[in-house]
Amino acid sequence: MEIYTSADLLERKVGLHKKEGNTIGFVPTMGALHSGHLSLLECCRADNDVSVVSIFVNPTQFNDPEDLRRYPRTIEKDLELLKENGCDMVFCPGEKEIYPAPDTRVFELGALETVMEAVHRPGHFNGVAQVVTRLFDIVKPHRAYFGIKDFQQVAVIKKVTRDLNYNIDIVVCPIIREHDGLAMSSRNVLLSAEQRKAAAGISAALFEAKTLAGRMTAERIKKFVTQKVESHDELEVEYFEIVDEESLQPVTELKSSAVGCIAVRAGKVRLIDNVYFSL
Ligand code: AMP
Repeated sequence: MEIYTSADLLERKVGLHKKEGNTIGFVPTMGALHSGHLSLLECCRADNDVSVVSIFVNPTQFNDPEDLRRYPRTIEKDLELLKENGCDMVFCPGEKEIYPAPDTRVFELGALETVMEAVHRPGHFNGVAQVVTRLFDIVKPHRAYFGIKDFQQVAVIKKVTRDLNYNIDIVVCPIIREHDGLAMSSRNVLLSAEQRKAAAGISAALFEAKTLAGRMTAERIKKFVTQKVESHDELEVEYFEIVDEESLQPVTELKSSAVGCIAVRAGKVRLIDNVYFSL
C-alpha cells in the first residue's frame, strides 16, 4: 500500500495507472475508520483495478468548531486497517495541500440547501462540495464511493458531479450497522456508555416506523418516531423528516420513494440515520 501526502505525487501515480489502462476507484473519508468505510473500500476494490482512499478531516464542512476539534483522529490504526483490507493507495494530505489558498467557491445547491442537514448545519454542504471537487480534481477517478448513511450528502455530490460535468460514476453503498442496529459512525466512540446504549433506539424507531407505513400518515409516523427516540433521556431529536428520495422535499403521503431521515443529539454528539420505506 502506498501512502501519499503530496497531491502532485498522487496525481502523477494515478496518471501512470490510467496510461496502463487501469480503472481507478476512490473512497473519500475523514478517517477514524470503521466497517462502514471498509465496506466502501470492498465495493471499490471489486469494481476497479486500483483503489484510492483519502483521509482528510475537512475543516470547511464543520459549522461547529468544537465538533471539528473533537472529531476522532486515529491515523495509525486507519492505515493498518486499509493495508489489511487491500487498499492500493492512501492519500493523507495536510490542509495546505487541499487548500493552498482559502476556498471561496460557493456552490449552487438549489432545493437541497433548504432541508434537513443544510438547515441545521449551515455551510456544511458547501464545504463538502469544496473538498469533494478538490479531491476529484486530484484523484480523477473513474468511480467514487459514498455511503447512503449520509443520504443528503449523496444527493449533493450527485448534483455537483452532474452540474460540473465530472466524468465520474457515483456509486452508493448501503448503511453498515452495529449488532444492535446503530449506524456505524466515527462519532460513535464519543458516546458515553449510557448514550451508546440509548443510541440503538434511533434505528429501532426507524425500523418500527417502516412496519407502520401502511397504517399511518407521514405526520403520525413523524410523531411516533420522535416520541420513541426521545423516550430515552439521553436522546434529543433535532429533526425527523420523511422526504422524497429524488427531490428530498417532505412528503405527506408515504409513497414507496419515501425516506425517513433523522438527526439526533446525544449530549454533544450528533448522530444521523435514515430508512427507505420501500426497501
Ligand atoms: P466520513 O469519514 O464520515 O466522512 O465518511 C466517509 C464515507 O463513508 C461517506 O461516504 C459515508 O457516507 C460513508 N459511511 C460512513 N458511515 C457509514 C456506514 N455506517 N455505512 C456505510 N457507509 C458509511
